[in-house]
Amino acid sequence: KKWVYLFTEGNADMRELLGGKGANLAEMTNIGLPVPQGFTITTEACTQYYEDGREINNEIMGQINEHIEKMEQITGKKFGDMENPLLVSVRSGARASMPGMMDTILNLGLNEDVVNVIAQKSGNPRWAWDCYRRFIQMYSDVVMEVGKKYFEELIDKMKDERGVKLDVELTADDLKELATQFKAEYKSKIGKDFPDDPKEQLYGAIKAVFRSWDNPRANVYRRDNDIPYSWGTAVNVQSMAFGNMGDDCGTGVAFTRDPATGAKGLFGEFLTNAQGEDVVAGVRTPMHIQEMSEKFPEAFEQFKDVCATLEEHYRDMQDMEFTVEHGKLFMLQTRNGKRTAQAALKIACDFVDEGMRTEKEAVAMIDPRNLDTLLHPQFDAAALKAATPAGRGLGASPGAACGKIVFSAEDAEEWNARGEKVVLVRLETSPEDITGMKASQGILTVRGGMTSHAAVVARGMGTCCVSGCGDIAMDEANKKFTLAGKEYHEGDYISIDGTTGNIYDGQIPTVDAKIAGEFGRVMEWADKYRKLKVRTNADTPKDAKKARELGAEGIGLCRTEHMFFEEDRIAAFREMICSDTVEEREAALDKILPYQQGDFEALYEALEGNPVTIRFLDPPLHEFVPTEEEDIKKLAESQGKSVETIKNIIASLHEFNPMMGHRGCRLAVTYPEIAKMQTRAVIRAAINVKKVHPDWNVKPEIMIPLICEVKELKYVKKTVVETADEEIKAAGIDLEYEVGTMIEIPRAALTADEIAKEADFFCFGTNDLTQMTFGFSRDDAGKFLNAYYESKIFENDPFAKLDQNGVGKLMEMTIKLGRPVNPNLHIGICGEHGGDPSSVAFCHKIGLDYVSCSPFRVPIARLAAAQAAI
Ligand code: PEP
Ligand code: MG
Repeated sequence: KKWVYLFTEGNADMRELLGGKGANLAEMTNIGLPVPQGFTITTEACTQYYEDGREINNEIMGQINEHIEKMEQITGKKFGDMENPLLVSVRSGARASMPGMMDTILNLGLNEDVVNVIAQKSGNPRWAWDCYRRFIQMYSDVVMEVGKKYFEELIDKMKDERGVKLDVELTADDLKELATQFKAEYKSKIGKDFPDDPKEQLYGAIKAVFRSWDNPRANVYRRDNDIPYSWGTAVNVQSMAFGNMGDDCGTGVAFTRDPATGAKGLFGEFLTNAQGEDVVAGVRTPMHIQEMSEKFPEAFEQFKDVCATLEEHYRDMQDMEFTVEHGKLFMLQTRNGKRTAQAALKIACDFVDEGMRTEKEAVAMIDPRNLDTLLHPQFDAAALKAATPAGRGLGASPGAACGKIVFSAEDAEEWNARGEKVVLVRLETSPEDITGMKASQGILTVRGGMTSHAAVVARGMGTCCVSGCGDIAMDEANKKFTLAGKEYHEGDYISIDGTTGNIYDGQIPTVDAKIAGEFGRVMEWADKYRKLKVRTNADTPKDAKKARELGAEGIGLCRTEHMFFEEDRIAAFREMICSDTVEEREAALDKILPYQQGDFEALYEALEGNPVTIRFLDPPLHEFVPTEEEDIKKLAESQGKSVETIKNIIASLHEFNPMMGHRGCRLAVTYPEIAKMQTRAVIRAAINVKKVHPDWNVKPEIMIPLICEVKELKYVKKTVVETADEEIKAAGIDLEYEVGTMIEIPRAALTADEIAKEADFFCFGTNDLTQMTFGFSRDDAGKFLNAYYESKIFENDPFAKLDQNGVGKLMEMTIKLGRPVNPNLHIGICGEHGGDPSSVAFCHKIGLDYVSCSPFRVPIARLAAAQAAI
């Protein structure tokens, strides 16, 4: 097997094997650009390294040695040579560019002898010793994991002693002395001498790259960005070009377009007499790339040509690193540049206008997850860069929030009313918190996963939420908590990032979302090419309107229990739950009916004749029974019962496992009067709206949740149909309606052929289907999933990214069983996965009719659906 490739042997299509950096170095070589030559060790070698127990096996080692020789022939230089020594850089490069992994080691191949040779040959001993001390520093830090700080301390000490401020003011002798000190530091930390043999140095560096694939930062990044662990990283070994050999040298990074706005034109920085890391480290202020034209006119002209060539070649905005050595240009890297969502949209549109890309290609260029940043407030980028997270939870609802800490929903409302911005911090949230959640900039919870109450509700509202930060030691009673050793009190500032899950101490300013002009154009293209319809999960007319603005073509899920979060409504709802008799329950239901009917009318109005799926009540009871003494008292009064009695009723409602308890259609089986009331509300609302808008296609879709057996559906459906037909007849109007079911219990999937006979439609409730298939409580999984990631049992949260192997198989089975029995059956998904790009792609693949997701994820789903279809 071939484990190592010269740059001359690869090309851009070999990204999987050579990684992005390696494939592009090969491609640049192929198209004749000036690239210092070298070789790439494949991603497969990385995977093999892990299979061999973190060792590089003999075969791979043999090929590495072979390629060192080839490289020596190509460059005419040799490792450790006293005439013409070879120095190399070693860099990681996965298929997708991945911060968090080992980045770069420069000047590898140096030892005291070689330093003397290059010092003499270049006539520039200062440069030579500077290279060496940098190499020792980088190698110690990156390969051997001796902390950077020890070396920085030594540099500072040296500068103090010499009475200078800047690194560049240190002389050759100072730097030589530093190299000696560094080596001593290395020996004291590692217990061995710093390696002098270039090959030994190289083996160490290669192993460090492989090892860095598995470091915690890389693992977190992979999880956030859907990059599989199995990909591995390649290693690139490239001969050095020196940007720090004098004033006719330099190094720079540049983009072919502005990565923040997308504007056309070179954007970047250049630093004379410097090596790559100086630009990034910000020790000296680099000049704007355009200024390079004065100091290095020839190299600059050549670089501009290279930029044009590369952009045209890759037909995408490029991000490049380069070095000028004695006036001569060398390209060290090119890749498709990372960009803001706004820039991504502009660049895609410009490329279409410039005739470089088709509409379909433009749609495929944009990362759907990136769109979030257009729709939610974000932290100010510079301020965020300077901040270090104090902790991390789950990025449950995107956006950024900064505000004063409050510990209760009431406080959130009160503080908000007097103009304060607040972040609501809770152990977990419950329906009572809803108004407080609305009054907050963001929500932070200690418990709960990606489909927990806080997460689902916050996502629906478009409010930033970080859930399940188990590191918080909460003391709600005393209004304080501890995180990362610091105590936080009510009124202290905190900043949270609902995209990454990061939590920051203090204030980080946020900037508001703004939808750029190109957004509409790209979305139009997406709509043109996608096959999947995109609906929304919306419970209120306000959410529904927002979702329509963002392009939703219907409501795929209205969670009717969510309509009872408001103060005055929850009372009636509790009366219903805590009723003793049918009469009591019916009385409570009579109070509820007008609320529901009114809401449904408003939803039909907002949707203007597009489909609206209304799901019948599915409240896990523990989310709704009152827990506060005051609420219990209120309920007792309105029911004319003693507090004691209510407490007994509440106790009798207690369930050990509420998520698998008396919820969903089980409620309608026990209390058909609930289904009756809801049917009335749905049908009456539809009739009223149809009367006003006879041209709209108002056709209610009634969805029965948590079905596991066809007879259950038959039973509830009978109540629905009888009630609906009665209402329609009484109104003397023609109204069609559908009765369908959610598929969210494995048994429903297994018996989908039977269920399909009774259902007009299926909708996958993949939150519950994931919960029930894995047997993981959706509210508690956050507690142990981290251990699963660390142990590599899971790479992703199955509640966020659909488990295609297991849950997905059940979905495919459902479709296969259901459709032949009922050719009119329409099938969708309304679990949280409906807004996750990779899950949307899977839904397209298995032939669903629509996905339904929270309003702010509608554009993401539209784009992801188009990409799946292209
Ligand atoms: C589901 O289970 O996927 C679903 C959409 O319903 P809920 O989240 O309300 O249980
Ligand atoms: Mg469900």
